[in-house]
Amino acid sequence: MSDHYVKVKVQLEQMKSLGQDAEKEGVDAEQVPVSSPTASDSPDPSSITIPATDASKPRGKSRSKPGKDDKNSSGKQISDLSLHGSVVSAAAEKNLNRLGYERTLHIRGTGKILQGKKETNGNYVTIHASKNNQEARREDGFKLARKRRPVTVDTSKAKTSLEALKISIRQLKWKEFPLGRRAACDIYWHGVSFHDNENIVSGQVNKFPGMIEMLRKINMSRAVRTMQELFPEEYDFYPRSWILPEEYQQFSTQIRMVKENDATVNPTFIVKPDGGSQGDGIYLIRDPSDLKLMAGSQAKQSVVQEYIQKPLLIDKLKFDIRLYVLIKSLEPLEIYIAKEGLTRFCTEPYQEPSQKNLSHVFMHLTNYSLNVHSGNFVHSDSQSTGSKRTLSSVLYRLAAKGVDIKRVWSDIIALVIKTAIAVVPELKVYYQADIPPGKPGPTCFQILGFDILLMKNLKPVLLEVNSNPSMRIEHEQEVAPGVFEYVPSPVDEEVKVGVIRDTLRLMDPGHRKPIIAQIRAGGFEHGEEIPMEAESQERSPEENGSLPSLCLKQVYPKYTKQFNYLRLVERIAALFIRFLGVKGNMRLGPTAFRTFIRTCKLSNSNFTMASVDILYIDITRRWSGAMPDSREAGMGLQAFVEAFFYLAGRRFKSLALKEQVVSLLELCEAQLGPQSGVEDRRSLSCSRALPRAVKAQTLCLTNPQLGSPAPLRRAASQDYRLHQRLKPRTLRANVEN
Ligand code: ADP
Repeated sequence: MSDHYVKVKVQLEQMKSLGQDAEKEGVDAEQVPVSSPTASDSPDPSSITIPATDASKPRGKSRSKPGKDDKNSSGKQISDLSLHGSVVSAAAEKNLNRLGYERTLHIRGTGKILQGKKETNGNYVTIHASKNNQEARREDGFKLARKRRPVTVDTSKAKTSLEALKISIRQLKWKEFPLGRRAACDIYWHGVSFHDNENIVSGQVNKFPGMIEMLRKINMSRAVRTMQELFPEEYDFYPRSWILPEEYQQFSTQIRMVKENDATVNPTFIVKPDGGSQGDGIYLIRDPSDLKLMAGSQAKQSVVQEYIQKPLLIDKLKFDIRLYVLIKSLEPLEIYIAKEGLTRFCTEPYQEPSQKNLSHVFMHLTNYSLNVHSGNFVHSDSQSTGSKRTLSSVLYRLAAKGVDIKRVWSDIIALVIKTAIAVVPELKVYYQADIPPGKPGPTCFQILGFDILLMKNLKPVLLEVNSNPSMRIEHEQEVAPGVFEYVPSPVDEEVKVGVIRDTLRLMDPGHRKPIIAQIRAGGFEHGEEIPMEAESQERSPEENGSLPSLCLKQVYPKYTKQFNYLRLVERIAALFIRFLGVKGNMRLGPTAFRTFIRTCKLSNSNFTMASVDILYIDITRRWSGAMPDSREAGMGLQAFVEAFFYLAGRRFKSLALKEQVVSLLELCEAQLGPQSGVEDRRSLSCSRALPRAVKAQTLCLTNPQLGSPAPLRRAASQDYRLHQRLKPRTLRANVEN
């Protein structure tokens, strides 16, 4: 036996024992599998993919069929080469020898390439191939590796989405780790929050830090209202809202004024507790005096919202749409919408609100969790009947009645993109606090549940966005009086498995599409209609197997051109993050705020640093009162945005708010240099025209009388930011000099 084979044998033994150790530790032995090449997947005979030593494979659990790989590990094939636990088949070895001096070994699943030059004594020395050669081989290695190694998914924290997730993983032929895994997984599926598992330093997690907080009703309303101030027409899809108890005075004053102006107007409002879900604690009122402001001795944090009195009805029933939206990435922003969604029907025929029917939850609230307890709830295996139907079946029905569903769908897409643009700035602040740049951490994606109501005039209205939409594919059913059981729900399965499976397909670490290509390809010309059909973003048929085409449709960056001009607050957030200083912070301290003012040259003899300090103290104090549960002291993003609006108003008095903000942003970004903007600053410019003529509408969806010329937040009693006439006296005296 030559020296070489002795060495090889020793290495093989070492690998075997390593493999056994790995097995003992419970580490997945397929983590770095290597397999022998076939003629078709080895474009270069010197590029050989070799199988893992089977000693390291838990035999019983192995997914691969016994065959060549198994044979390779048998002692019979003693002439095979082994290198770092890999076995090269005799045929491959022949090829190698024929090539003479260079060999490249692709280690499956790692993309690693071992290259060696055969010395006359049969040993290998590392050589460096020409750069191009090496890169080409590395690419080959990646391709092969991605093709072969199943993507690993940690499902140990999946909770109620587990069933749908399991089916999805099975369909994709990926590998599930139901009890977690000591080694890193490619994807971690969390049932609730980013923090379900704190020890993830790589891979991808299906939740963003801060998403739960951001989508709570109050925060969400604030974020949308900021956008309404800047772009009232574009954000008219969100009902007028007030935050309680903070804005109780404004709310009651405005309602009183509306009623005094026109006695025939009798609006209805819906009150929603801040952290509530599934209709919990929701009630309708017709007068501010009916508000239940206290919970025991504590003021209830809630949102009171204009009630949409004329929803579109089907079979005389009110219904809403649950649309699944994937935020694939924040930077760059990538949004996908599921083509299929659910519609949830009320179980009592709808009547416009009256004092008599205000408490009829089965008439006014579409929540499944409530209506399932009504005697009228219809479980149906059909997708187009019953109390829960597919969105496509409802759209089909509307189309049959002559409704322009293409238009409805494009309005829904616009609503989703605009809502995402409203919440992304603060999400970025959370993200950098939890996963500071430069620190190891996973990347994130998240499926959100958008609840949308269609008004009688077919205008979509955003009710709320759920950070944890239910992914259950069973439903509760009363199998005997008082006895409830979970039984499979075909409608849920159809929709939710598709959404999870296709989210996984899009997040497949081996199939990330270069975003730049999407941006270049994306964006319709001005005025172009948003199509209803999803564009395909398919893998090769070979890789796709028998999977259906993707049910998720990319809408951003695809429609960048139409919507990028809305991303102003994101640019403000980029400044904010830049001045946060200490990584992991979410609040700006007074010194950092001063530094911002100084660096951007925003102070002058008319606006001294003393005024800056007063501005900081005043705004921060007020916001900390508005957010009593926030633990960190300092100025949060929303307060900073308020300060920014104020500064913009001071500096560019003659312009409208949007132009004021754009001008100040340009000024700051010019002072700070290239790092400051988000993505392409020019494309975020405010001058871009709207995709198509937007009908001028007030913020008020059903009761125009409720809309006041000044946006709501500006009318807040202490809100001095934008309109000097509204500034409290103390501030005017001190800040403006
Ligand atoms: P939750 O998180 O508790 O489900 P939602 O905001 O989704 O709270 O409201 C619950 C239900 O109340 C919705 O599904 C919808 O049927 C109804 N609803 C909510 N807001 C409005 C509104 N502004 N106008 C009319 N109906 C509404």
